[in-house]
Amino acid sequence: MQPFTYQGLPVRVRFGAGALANLAEEAAALGIRKALLISTPAQAAAAHDFASNHKATIGAVFTDAQMHTPTDVTERALEIVKSAGCDGMIALGGGSTIGLGKAIALRTDLPQIAIPTTYAGSEATPILGETKDGLKTTIRDLRVLPEVILYDVDLTLTLPPALSMTSGLNAIAHAAEALYARDGNPLISLLAQDGIRAMAAALPAIHRDPHDAEARAKALYGAWACGTCLGSVGMALHHKLCHTLGGSFNLPHAETHAILLPHSIAYNKAAAPEAMQRIAEALGAQDAADGLFALSRQTGAPSSLLAIGMRAEDIEHAADLAVANPYWSPRPVERDAIGKLLRNALQGLPPELV
Ligand code: NAD
Repeated sequence: MQPFTYQGLPVRVRFGAGALANLAEEAAALGIRKALLISTPAQAAAAHDFASNHKATIGAVFTDAQMHTPTDVTERALEIVKSAGCDGMIALGGGSTIGLGKAIALRTDLPQIAIPTTYAGSEATPILGETKDGLKTTIRDLRVLPEVILYDVDLTLTLPPALSMTSGLNAIAHAAEALYARDGNPLISLLAQDGIRAMAAALPAIHRDPHDAEARAKALYGAWACGTCLGSVGMALHHKLCHTLGGSFNLPHAETHAILLPHSIAYNKAAAPEAMQRIAEALGAQDAADGLFALSRQTGAPSSLLAIGMRAEDIEHAADLAVANPYWSPRPVERDAIGKLLRNALQGLPPELV
């Protein structure tokens, strides 16, 4: 067996239908009595309902969280934290909402409770990506890791079916890359495989019936498992490609992950055979990349970058950016092959060895 290093993350998790009922107890344990409740504009009504049901815990509401955590939004939220005397954050929503809670925690060291309503997994990581003047930078710092996560399956029942599929594939991307991470370890690999297994079983069932509570629970468990992988070990080529396309070409986060994942995995096929076998096994497929492509087709996720707004004339520039400052990858990052990979993804072609 290879030597390894494992570092556990200090986070408390309460999972299950109705887990929200533990909010007051968890907030009290953290000394939170006047939290800033955070959401996005799309979930503002739900946030205000939530605040009126939890008056003893919430001191102010901010509903303007945005994707990629722009620092000017963080500054506005910080003003409210100060003026309302908030003593913690409760983030109710997806990665955008949780990102804002993390950005405030970085600047104040106040405690956070994350209540995720997508499968993106940010709640389980000490990672924060922030955008300033159009430039996205990512840091890893334990101050941004939420102290408590409440995974309440009931809150995910409203996640629109299309976003459920792409968000679930986004989660699988974390676990798939964890299986070939340079700093991987046996515990995280087990979690990664089980996270993929759970998510791959849940997504087709949710696609058939978005109110299938059992499938929703399985997907949320998968999100936690996959998010923990993201928080624990380094990501590779796939996350770099998504970061580049999201940051520089403003493509939507979860959809970009869903489209690129089979192609990124195919790229690394020969260089990471054990990981490929474990991904394929978790998917119940013969081949990891083909299995991921089949899952995305089966669940109706968008198949091409063209369909989500990428312009054909930007592909070569995207390839240049992706290789300019590459993440480590089991197979070294080769400019021509990355160009071909992106052209295939642009058109929605099946993954191939490029
Ligand atoms: P999101 O948070 O932007 O949510 C997408 C939309 O869905 C929003 O309008 C939101 O209000 C809505 N929504 C969320 N849950 C809902 C629900 N249950 N019902 C109805 N509507 C709901 O999307 P996301 O994919 O969760 O997060 C993407 C962001 O998170 C990106 O900025 C990405 O960089 C970041 N992220 C960070 C990490 C990390 O570890 N730092 C990990 C994953 C993602």
